[in-house]
Amino acid sequence: MRQYEFWFVVGSQFLYGPEVLETVAARSAEMAETLSKKLPYKLVYKVTAKTNQEITDVVKEANYDDNCAGIITWCHTFSPSKMWINGLANLQKPYCHLATQYNREIPNEEIDMDFMNLNQAAHGDREHGFIAARLRMPRKVIAGYWQDEKVQTRLGDWMKAAVGVAVSRNMKVMRFGDNMREVAVTEGDKVEVQAKLGWQVNTWAVGDLVKEMNAVTEAEIDALMEVYTASYDVATDDVAAIRYQAKEEIAIRKMMDAEGCKAFSNTFQDLYGMEQLPGLASQHLMAQGYGYGGEGDWKVAAMTAILKAMGEGGNGASAFMEDYTYHLVEGQEYSLGAHMLEVCPSVAAGKPRIETHHLGIGMNEKDPARLVFEGKAGKAIVVSLIDMGGRLRLIVQDIEAVKPIMPMPNLPVARVMWKAMPDLTTGVECWITAGGAHHTVLSYDVSAEQMRDWARMMDIEFVHITKDTTPEKLEEELFVKDLAWKLK
Ligand code: MN
Repeated sequence: MRQYEFWFVVGSQFLYGPEVLETVAARSAEMAETLSKKLPYKLVYKVTAKTNQEITDVVKEANYDDNCAGIITWCHTFSPSKMWINGLANLQKPYCHLATQYNREIPNEEIDMDFMNLNQAAHGDREHGFIAARLRMPRKVIAGYWQDEKVQTRLGDWMKAAVGVAVSRNMKVMRFGDNMREVAVTEGDKVEVQAKLGWQVNTWAVGDLVKEMNAVTEAEIDALMEVYTASYDVATDDVAAIRYQAKEEIAIRKMMDAEGCKAFSNTFQDLYGMEQLPGLASQHLMAQGYGYGGEGDWKVAAMTAILKAMGEGGNGASAFMEDYTYHLVEGQEYSLGAHMLEVCPSVAAGKPRIETHHLGIGMNEKDPARLVFEGKAGKAIVVSLIDMGGRLRLIVQDIEAVKPIMPMPNLPVARVMWKAMPDLTTGVECWITAGGAHHTVLSYDVSAEQMRDWARMMDIEFVHITKDTTPEKLEEELFVKDLAWKLK
């Protein structure tokens, strides 16, 4: 991934004289340097801005610097906000206002009017906050002491969400085949997502993929087989089936890399010339950070890649997922998530096994190899982006994943079991009321707050189903938002 960084822009004015401004600049540089050691991305101190021109210049520079994933502002002193209007009005990068203070404590003996004039973030940050509110700027406000772990964690989480914005704006999705016939929720306006989210969603012929597969060499397959056997337990004698998946993976990857695509979709209804639906191939591509969507679902493919990029180390535990079936025994209400083949091993609790089984859906001439595993336990979210016609809605639901409560020895695919918030049936009522898809991205590494930040920066509707959501309150929320988004 690109070496993203964030810029620290500190507001001030000439009123205080050069000595104070030098102190502000030195402390701001020190803060950026200290924070850079704690944050997932570098924070670069840029300027102590005192004029309209300085702010306009740094915003222009930020807009055109591909490595700059966002700006973080703060006012050590008071910075009259009319000088920020021209710059902020042109800002095209994510924006976070860190309302903090250089010193933690009010020094009882030392405090006098000089100290007060130097350390006035308490009112400087309010003036700064007003102009962003007045300009209706989409921004994140984080308040607290800059050396506190909680503040640093929140700042780091916001940075990852902002990187999700940069990844989104550069997202290219490779489609093999169209969407599954007659399915509604996987459809969507590809022009709208390009204008709004930056995604370039285009199609390539399955025949071209087959041609690319036929050009894959035995040596290339041997090399990938070594990676498979090092990463997974081989629990099948059908080596030819695994080698076929390796051939598919190599060919898909070559085509994606040649086009700069970070996500792909395919469909079991269009495998013309292929012996098997890519199973292990898609799973291992996802493990490397590529997004995937089944049945032509290019929206979930792009979202999977974006959440992966937002997660830990630029490839978090985030997976293409599908709600499959329920366990509705009182006190043990769970969703069982899986897919025909393609669940990403980044969410596995243990070492995945490579197995081959018959797949009845689609035109599979041979039994496809796939990774079989249980998902890990822990707090997570499921995310669905839907096209409401005229706008996009991002739905996030809090979930608690558990170790599957039964072994299900005849289930030939990877599985994740979870409890949706606020409880299974209320959660299902809320999800269905909001129009959430059966396909989701399930993530252990990305939080609902980060998805809220991402949706705000992308200027799309955000719906969050939590432990406190009721279908009644949600229905009203959706009604009001529907009106608001029509006016927007
Ligand atoms: Mn599906």
